[in-house]
Amino acid sequence: MISRYWSYIKKHWYFFLFGPIFVILSAILEVTLPKITANLINNGIANGDISYIVKQSILMMVIALVTMVSSVLGAIFAINASTRFGANLRRDIFARVQKYSFANLDHLTTGSLITRITNDVTQMQAFVQNMLRMMLRAPTMMIGAMIMAFQLNLSLAMVLCVVIPVLMLSLILLIRGSLSRYSGMQAQLDLLNTQIGESIENERVIKSFAREDFEREKFYTVNDTLYKKSIHALKVMLWIAPICTIAINVATIATVWIAGRQIMIGNMELGTLTAFITYLSQILTQVRVMSIVFERWSRAKASANRIREIFDEELDLTDEESGDCKVEKGSIEFQNVSFRYFKNRREKVLNNISFRIEAGQTVGIIGSTGSGKTTLISMIPRLYDVDEGAVLVDGVDVKAYSFENLRKGIAVVLQKNMLFSGTVRENLYWGKEDANEEELDEASLHSQSSEFLSTFKDGYETELGHGGINLSGGQKQRLCIARALLRKPKILILDDSTSALDTATDAKFRKALREEASDITCLIIAQRISSVMDADRILVMDNGRIVGNGTHAELMRSCQVYREIYLTQKEGDAAND
Ligand code: ADP
Repeated sequence: MISRYWSYIKKHWYFFLFGPIFVILSAILEVTLPKITANLINNGIANGDISYIVKQSILMMVIALVTMVSSVLGAIFAINASTRFGANLRRDIFARVQKYSFANLDHLTTGSLITRITNDVTQMQAFVQNMLRMMLRAPTMMIGAMIMAFQLNLSLAMVLCVVIPVLMLSLILLIRGSLSRYSGMQAQLDLLNTQIGESIENERVIKSFAREDFEREKFYTVNDTLYKKSIHALKVMLWIAPICTIAINVATIATVWIAGRQIMIGNMELGTLTAFITYLSQILTQVRVMSIVFERWSRAKASANRIREIFDEELDLTDEESGDCKVEKGSIEFQNVSFRYFKNRREKVLNNISFRIEAGQTVGIIGSTGSGKTTLISMIPRLYDVDEGAVLVDGVDVKAYSFENLRKGIAVVLQKNMLFSGTVRENLYWGKEDANEEELDEASLHSQSSEFLSTFKDGYETELGHGGINLSGGQKQRLCIARALLRKPKILILDDSTSALDTATDAKFRKALREEASDITCLIIAQRISSVMDADRILVMDNGRIVGNGTHAELMRSCQVYREIYLTQKEGDAAND
């Protein structure tokens, strides 16, 4: 575990070094105090030596002051070390998740990733802080106090030899059982976060279907299970305090009993007994502290395992082997492409697909829901990698491009494209960071966004709510298209991205695309044949295969699936009229 996190420690080594030094110093100083007290009672008070008492008292005050200062410094260094550790770990996890492909993201739910980046990192951060403070302080004090206790009186120290092992063993056995319980607790927290994310994100859908009660019940169940699992894991801790208290009391009684007899026969002084009882209490308290550290370690270990999974998740898409070619023209070719989301299943989502699209052509893709249209276009910007065959852009395998060059040349407007909170301008800058006003106006005009933007008082400076919540579906789609056009891509892929536009606006947009962006290769997935009828070519998909490839007229003649879709839509239109 340490080797994995060594880089975080190395980066801020001074906090990790000076923190423990001050903590250990304060612990050593603290264990000297009872011994001085014993001397003060045995030599000063017993003999009425005032000057000895004053000297020892001043010494005790100086030691107490230095202990306090080093303890505060130790805490400051430990807090700095742990918070920096946590911040750097969170940063690296986030960076790792940013590298994930769509397939990687399919494995880990959003809720689980959030729990790991927040709660699990916090557990580890708390552990680092504990490690630097308690984990060093407790053994130092324990060993120091034991040395002092043995020096004070050997026969009394025998009490410790019995009590400490018994106490330690019972605490270790108790806590060891809790490790798996913590893993269960964190996994349940994943579920809770997933559920919260899904419910809040889709609050509007929930309300429109009047499913609030169902969602509430679902949440209560998950929340209740988390409560039960937390109690199950944490109840171990409830036993630690009573066990330690019993141990301290039993040990104190045994000590007083042994010491009382020795004092009565004049073999021991009272100060020795007082100091010994203080050491006894210090030692057993530190055993309790160490058990808490051990318990935190169990929790941190469960969290560390979950964080490790994020780093160990194999990135199934990398561009490490890529050259520096760029998309120059925009031709696309699929050569016998097959693909499955679940590699262990037999059914292919794309089945031996081959076609070619020349640069500058506009091609429509039609097919029933689930026929594989979105999956097909996902292969071009490498959102997923093909299992068999190859996808070529400008005659070069997409795997030979760096992600940056490939995705610079290909703009995709996905079905569920998102806008971000911020102004319209900030959102458009996603397409091109340094776009000037002219470019913004041009992209807005062609995407048919200008007409609604001109009605906004603040124009490009209009603030969008979270996810563009204050825009209509059609307005959101048009801004997403504007954002894509700003990139001046060689290939533009629209995945059902004009579904919320009325027919007239949709037609205007396609006309603008034809006239103003004729050099861009366009792939348009559409539900309605009317949206792609005038394309250079239409691909018809059915059950993961291409079953038609031609113009509207050709397909009407030769492709039964296309004809059926056309007729169904025509009947639907007639029924609506
Ligand atoms: P279309 O765009 O034609 O509606 P898709 O390409 O979205 O079809 O889906 C094709 C098939 O792949 C469907 O059976 C769908 O359930 C499945 N599928 C789509 N996305 C995923 C995913 N991320 N993980 C697993 N299966 C998926």
